[in-house]
Parts: sequence; C-alpha cells; structure tokens
Amino acid sequence: MASAPAVPLAPGVWRIPLVRDFVNGFILRDDDGQVTLVDMGIKQSGKKVMAALASIGSGPSDVTRLMLTHAHPDHAGGASYVAQQTGHEFGIHEADADFARRGVSPPRDQSFLLGRLLGLAKNGFPPVSVGETFTDGQVIPFAGGIQVVHTPGHSPGHASYLLRESGVLITGDAIFNVRGLRWPIKSFCTDFRMTTQTAARLADLDYTTAAFTHGPELRDRPREDIRRFLKAHGSM
Ligand SMILES: [Zn+2]
Repeated sequence: MASAPAVPLAPGVWRIPLVRDFVNGFILRDDDGQVTLVDMGIKQSGKKVMAALASIGSGPSDVTRLMLTHAHPDHAGGASYVAQQTGHEFGIHEADADFARRGVSPPRDQSFLLGRLLGLAKNGFPPVSVGETFTDGQVIPFAGGIQVVHTPGHSPGHASYLLRESGVLITGDAIFNVRGLRWPIKSFCTDFRMTTQTAARLADLDYTTAAFTHGPELRDRPREDIRRFLKAHGSM
C-alpha cells in the first residue's frame, strides 16, 4: 500500500515519505501560511515533495524557505527541481554548502573498504542553488524558531534541526530509525567515529517527537530512547 503523501507530526509539521519510510523530507507551515521545506530525497523525489505540499492545501507560492540537512544524493537529489518550482535557493550548513553547489558528496571514510570502493564510484546529484549558509546554534526565524544543531561526521556540514515550538527534532542522518535506532551506514560517512560522538548532542535537546530522515518518527518519549541508544553505543 502506498503511504500517505504527508504524515502529520505536530501542528504545522509533516513528514513526507519520499521512498516509502526509508527516505523522508519535511514540511513546516507557519500560522500565516508560509512554508519551509526540509530535505528533498533522491532525484525522483522532487515531484513527490510538490505533491505532498498540494495534499496539505499549500502551493509553490507559499514556500518561503528551503533547507537541507546535508549534501548527499538521497537528501539533495530532488533539490534542484524544487528550487525551480518554488523560485528559492537552499539553506544548508556552511561546511556542506560547496558540495551542494557542485552536486557532489563530501569524501567518504577511507578507513572502511566499502568507503574506499564507493569513493571511486560516481556519487553526484543535480547541483543545488545555495543561498543562506548556517552555523551551529543559529536560530532560523520560522514557526517559533528552527535551531541549527551541527552534528558533523556523516558529512562535514551535517545538521540536525530542532523545531522549538512544536518540539520536533529532525535528526537528519545523525541517527537512523530503520528497524530500530541505528547509526548511519559507516561507509557513507565522511568520518564515522565523529558522527557517533557528535550525535551525543541530541541527548541534551528538548523535544517530544523525534523525526528521522531515514525511518518513521518516534512519538512516545523519544528522548529516552535516543539517550538509551547513545549510552548503549558509547556516545555518552
Ligand atoms: Zn541519508
């Protein structure tokens, strides 16, 4: 059965299942109707993002901000299409901005054989027009504030986003929830050890829903689950 085009997470927050629940983007809508979109999935996902937007009664002209968690083809793949449809540029952490502009993934962890092999393979996506670049701790003035939490390792500029008003944490690829909480695939990380260390930052944030770019959300005391995962894996 096909998933719904947009899954409500909190008032004004939806998850967009872009490749079933395995790859997700997000819609944030402010009280005045302005929309921020976060992560655009793979190249073919751009149309799904726009269809999800229509399914909640908003259109391209309501979109005022576009954001990415990091510059990988399963997040930035549909970005150039959505930029064309909405007429906006993307915001991304400053350390991933050039990769997004060039349409190439950051380097992969060479300490893993698969990373070395994959490093040789082409791993690009359509170049993304980047406008604003983010720094750690910055609060983007939208719907009560979107806090940028730099969680590097998976990529140099990987960022998680805390939606302060709705209490939703978008982990990005810092932690997956695919058949349970787990680390991102080692060989896809720029520095796997670093990603396991910086994920500990998520333990200190305040949220009531954990939303993942890979896997379905956790709605029942997710902070406890994430803290337990981090402790069990030596991150805190
Ligand atoms: Zn990913």
